[in-house]
Amino acid sequence: MKIIEFYKRSEKTVLSLEIFPPQANYPVDSLFNTIEELRDLEPDFISVTYGAGGSTRDRTVEIASSIKNDFGIETLAHLTCMAHSKQEVDSILGILWEQGIRNIMALRGDPPADVESLDLIQREYHYARELIEEARKKADFGIAAAAYPEGHPECQKLSNDILHLKEKVDAGVDVLISQLFFDNRKIYDFMDRSLQAGINCPIVPGIMPVLNAKQIKRMIFLSGASVPSDLLRLLDKYDDRPEEMEKAGIEYASRQVEDLLANRIPGIHMYTMNKSRQIKEIVKNAGL
Ligand code: FAD
Repeated sequence: MKIIEFYKRSEKTVLSLEIFPPQANYPVDSLFNTIEELRDLEPDFISVTYGAGGSTRDRTVEIASSIKNDFGIETLAHLTCMAHSKQEVDSILGILWEQGIRNIMALRGDPPADVESLDLIQREYHYARELIEEARKKADFGIAAAAYPEGHPECQKLSNDILHLKEKVDAGVDVLISQLFFDNRKIYDFMDRSLQAGINCPIVPGIMPVLNAKQIKRMIFLSGASVPSDLLRLLDKYDDRPEEMEKAGIEYASRQVEDLLANRIPGIHMYTMNKSRQIKEIVKNAGL
């Protein structure tokens, strides 16, 4: 089933969860235990990320396939194109389809950490839009793509980023999932501006709870997300008190989701960071 069908049903807010494959030297079984626990939340679908440069290619396919075929939960397999040739992408799309995976999150990706500079001109793919076009031609996939409420870090102006987003949607995107943000006003403003730009598909807010001060500081650095003063105070206060940081982070994310639910958003996408207990608590607290 294509994930867009969940958003067309109006009776309930769609809940999706994002997980990431463990590194190659770690067993995949513990992730399957986490999925088993997350299943209690009755998510509409679970998305599986794709390691930079294709580093988790086989595991992403294996895990997405298991979510769909063993757990019986709809799945969205992420795929990045930046470090692949067109031939490789064609083959991966073919494998996903053969495994029964009907939804992909089409992304450009970032250069792998060990590559100093990546000459995009030499590459076969430059932007996610090209992958979206390929996937549309290849098979009848449901296609999601990334959206950035505060603008993609490489783009100087949010208005330009929204123009590029519109090109991506016009190439065949059904659903947009947002980058993390901590100030809900950012996503409401972004949704208004996207609508004004003619983007009519669902834009689903992505929520990353602050469970660990160090980790979230890195995410803030990478994403450029702005940090409201109340969250900044928490990060300062609990910097060296991890248990209290986690508690405060769960509370902050619960209130964020609660506010989103009161504002008629199409769904909530939780970046689970492969943590089940904390995510369950947030979903329950927020009344989702
Ligand atoms: P694009 O949409 O191609 O945009 C990239 C940049 O190019 C933007 O600045 C855009 O404004 C600009 N641009 C687009 N078109 C044009 C044009 N015609 N001319 C000039 N500039 C243009 N990364 C992973 O490696 N694996 C994952 O699984 C993964 N999952 C993600 C899930 C979500 C929900 C999000 C929000 C991000 C995810 N990412 C993932 C990160 C993503 O790969 C990076 O943010 C990457 O830098 C951009 O990918 P994109 O698909 O948004 O790129």
